[in-house]
Amino acid sequence: MPDDLYQRYQAAARAHQAHTTSCPHCTDTTRCPEGTRLWSAFERLQDAYLARQRTKRTR
Ligand SMILES: [Zn+2]
Repeated sequence: MPDDLYQRYQAAARAHQAHTTSCPHCTDTTRCPEGTRLWSAFERLQDAYLARQRTKRTR
């Protein structure tokens, strides 16, 4: 079964990483508006993914 949420979470991580490596304004402590947008998209997906992992672990 394809894990859509995981795929989107990974894609968002790659998108943000690709941006920060090529963007002169984004560092560990500073983000440009586009970097901020990509980061918050990644954070939302990460939260959703990790929350689902926690609920899945109940056996
Ligand atoms: Zn940037």
